[in-house]
Amino acid sequence: MSQKQTLSFQAEVAQLLHLVTHSLYSNKEIFLRELISNASDACDKLRFEALNDAGLYEDAPSLEVRVSFDRQARTLTIADNGIGLSQQEAIDNLGTIAKSGTREFMGRLSGDQKADSQLIGQFGVGFYSGFIVADKISVESRRAGLPAEQGVRWVSGGAGDFEVEAITRPERGTSVTLHLRDDAQDYLSSWKLKSIVNKYSDHVSLPILMRKEEWKEGEEGQPGEHVVSDEWETVNQATALWARPKKDITTEQYQEFYKALSHDFEPPLAWTHNRVEGSTEYTQLLFVPGRAPFDLWNRDKAAGVKLYVKRIFIMDDAEALLPSYLRFVKGVIDSADLPLNVSRELLQESRDVKAIREGNTRRVLSMLEDLAKAERDEAAAEEDKGKYAKFYAEFGAVLKEGLGEDFGNRERLAKLLRFASTASDSASVSLADYKARMKEGQQAIYYVTADTQAAAANSPQLEIFRKKGLEVLFMTDRVDEWALGHVEDFDGTPLQSVAKGQVDLGSLQDEAEKKAAEEAAESFKPVLARLKEALKDKAQDVRVTTRLVDSPACLVVSEGGMSLQLARLLKQAGQKAPETKPVLEVNASHPLVMKLDGSPGFDDLAHILFDQALLAEGGMPQDPAGYVKRVSALLAQGGL
Ligand code: ADP
Repeated sequence: MSQKQTLSFQAEVAQLLHLVTHSLYSNKEIFLRELISNASDACDKLRFEALNDAGLYEDAPSLEVRVSFDRQARTLTIADNGIGLSQQEAIDNLGTIAKSGTREFMGRLSGDQKADSQLIGQFGVGFYSGFIVADKISVESRRAGLPAEQGVRWVSGGAGDFEVEAITRPERGTSVTLHLRDDAQDYLSSWKLKSIVNKYSDHVSLPILMRKEEWKEGEEGQPGEHVVSDEWETVNQATALWARPKKDITTEQYQEFYKALSHDFEPPLAWTHNRVEGSTEYTQLLFVPGRAPFDLWNRDKAAGVKLYVKRIFIMDDAEALLPSYLRFVKGVIDSADLPLNVSRELLQESRDVKAIREGNTRRVLSMLEDLAKAERDEAAAEEDKGKYAKFYAEFGAVLKEGLGEDFGNRERLAKLLRFASTASDSASVSLADYKARMKEGQQAIYYVTADTQAAAANSPQLEIFRKKGLEVLFMTDRVDEWALGHVEDFDGTPLQSVAKGQVDLGSLQDEAEKKAAEEAAESFKPVLARLKEALKDKAQDVRVTTRLVDSPACLVVSEGGMSLQLARLLKQAGQKAPETKPVLEVNASHPLVMKLDGSPGFDDLAHILFDQALLAEGGMPQDPAGYVKRVSALLAQGGL
């Protein structure tokens, strides 16, 4: 690259920039945290690459970040001597966003500034946050190991495009110069900058240097002033936060560390910080965020835990350190035992890593157990009370994946589950609560799966349970059926779907009822045979049921079969679902069903019954127009 080139930002970057400049002004000062965090990452990367090639340090082995400003030029510069950017890297990394799912995320922005600024916090703005305070940013950089002539200057006004050109830059690393907007001139102050560094970046393990400012007395009656000297001083603690003793770290410091680590704008819900000793030694600092990131459901999303070995950053997406169902956890692991040149392959196999992963899992689960306990504990601090509910609303569905993935912790996980039910509108019922409320003689924990809570609550399959006063849990998360399929029982009591198999309420059904049902079934036999014949393409079987009270019919699947709802979800997701036909159960004492016998429109009525049962549980008739035709004809006959 010899000449200056003007290039356009990727569309998503342009959108992000627009948002940054229009929505984030109430939280201006975070730009410094983001830029210092990038500088610190760049130094981490250099240190890591230099493990194999010490020449990369050139003649500047001590890594640092310098923050300086120029009052005349109204600029603020954040410079590091980290890994730097090549020309191509500057174009790629500062002109596009590599995170997958970005486009979908941008599509969710509404144009409402307040709502969008909340969302953007989940996304993380990083480098582009500079445009909150700057109307022009100039980046000069040279990648470690490249010759001085292969430096790069990148300049942009934060609108649609940026310029890049080759420069000669003897110093390795990157300097980011912000041309401050008129309303951001107050950052041209040592005192202000120091206080921000103190608040947001004190934990950064590198020294952050600023020029010393001295008080100079005014001459002969003139007022004195602060003068910036040539001498640099370190303005942060410059020791990694996790390496400090717990007792020396304040709540606010933990929170700020989390924000810098995760790019989240909100504080975490909880954290755990431990030095683990034993067969393998490591420090763990793990956070549970207060809200889900935008790409929580992205399966190839990078894990949120950074791995360090003896303070040297190794990788930031070490999946081996936590199971995938805890992928919302953010944090740092610093091992004293792993080799510095640890590779991904080695990570998968290392016994030390397995021990760390198990230790992390246990810690996160006990953190969650503590939150769950505080929720019910009268004596718990007020601010801790809503935390578990908040956690569960954001991450409960992810946690449930653990039931299928982590056999060893299944019981602990089952205790952490919460559901809405026929007895509770909010998702607050634990399996233990349910058991404590079970009726005498009740032999199972009953649940119904549905797309929404309203659909679950109105499900016809529930009718007999309501009548008998039996609680039924609502499972409305997509993962529920799959996940709960791995939980046969809770504390010795089996879980039973109300839409699978025959209802057997055991001793809860009195003899008279059972007898009446048997008699009804007997006298209904000829009608059943005709129904089976009429519906042979749709229903596997047709039988009389006692589970219905007000509804004429419902659909159930066989014991152990896949629910109709799950089969639909799989189909929607483009996956194969077994083509099993459901069983139609009819309520022999319902007026509509009683009309069947002797009706001239028997076949039409049979199809209407089936299709309505399908609609009632959220499905769609195979032939919706045919259904409408039949119902219309019936209504017309009724002479409305
Ligand atoms: P993120 O840090 O989340 O990847 P950013 O938008 O903050 O996103 O930065 C984009 C990329 O630009 C970084 O991933 C990194 O490759 C590069 N980058 C940013 N700042 C620096 C820096 N000071 N030194 C080297 N590379 C940098």
